[in-house]
Amino acid sequence: PLVMFFMGVGQFVQGRAAIHRVDELARLAQESDGPEGVADPAPLGRLARHRPAVEFHDVRFAYRRGKQAEKTQVLNGVSFSVPARGLTAVVGPSGAGKTTMFQLIERFYSVDRGSVRLSGHDIEALPLDTVRGLVGYVQQDSAAMRGTIRENLTYANPHAGDDAVREAVAMAGLTSVIAHLPRGLDTELGDQGSGLSGGQRQRLCIARTLLQQPAVMLLDEATSNLDSDSERDFRDVVRRISRRCAVIAIAHRISTVIDADKIVVMEGGRVRATGVHHDLMERDELYRRLAGSQLLAEPGLMPPPTAPATA
Ligand code: ADP
Ligand code: MG
Repeated sequence: PLVMFFMGVGQFVQGRAAIHRVDELARLAQESDGPEGVADPAPLGRLARHRPAVEFHDVRFAYRRGKQAEKTQVLNGVSFSVPARGLTAVVGPSGAGKTTMFQLIERFYSVDRGSVRLSGHDIEALPLDTVRGLVGYVQQDSAAMRGTIRENLTYANPHAGDDAVREAVAMAGLTSVIAHLPRGLDTELGDQGSGLSGGQRQRLCIARTLLQQPAVMLLDEATSNLDSDSERDFRDVVRRISRRCAVIAIAHRISTVIDADKIVVMEGGRVRATGVHHDLMERDELYRRLAGSQLLAEPGLMPPPTAPATA
């Protein structure tokens, strides 16, 4: 509980910081394109549509251990780009550097060489608040906490209004789940969010991040025991979000990659191939193997559900 508390404080501080990024956002938003998109759903955090949301240019990165300069090279010249809308899936064996890549997009660490760009801007040149505000990150082990569903949704964005909460809940596919609970948004969850199924807790974490109005959504997908209904719900949610912002998912499920607009195959700190499913099935042996075994990435870290699913 103490760890959860401090994680909460961290995200709260982050959320507060997001309030002070208006200027930078206004500046980035000015670069958004005009009204040429006809039936274009309203974007979340606004970024120019004609520019890649995220680009890696020859990124090299090593974690430093202690004071020694001893380094373990983790990314060895990674380049790829992510369009401003749609789903980009990242797959690859354990240790390939997928989670590290996400951490670099959030600027938890700085690259050693090369650059990471958000809508064409080197993230090193943007205020950290701007980067963190534009990029929402649902970590693989993101957790729900004891407290009401509303508290779970808004602790990072305490000023989120009812409309914003409703919209995030709808996008995360939780409207009817919550409507069927005795006290709706004020329903108390037990420890680690017990009272919801694993899939529902995962979508609660997604809704929480959506309240941040991100322009880029990083999803470290959880593998463990999602039933086929939850898997379908997750897929619908990702499709819905990816119409409004750039979604990058470290994907474990074949259903996620089959839907992806772009797939990045990573191995040993490099991008081995990029393409769409049918194309990679033909030309990349590792992808074929991963897709065949259904083990598209490393095993999940999500604990198994501790409470029976509520329908
Ligand atoms: P993936 O998500 O593809 O499994 P990671 O990005 O988690 O890969 O890890 C890539 C490599 O970096 C691994 O060898 C891992 O041991 C190492 N690594 C990850 N996080 C850290 C860290 N905080 N400190 C040192 N090494 C790390
Ligand atoms: Mg990982």
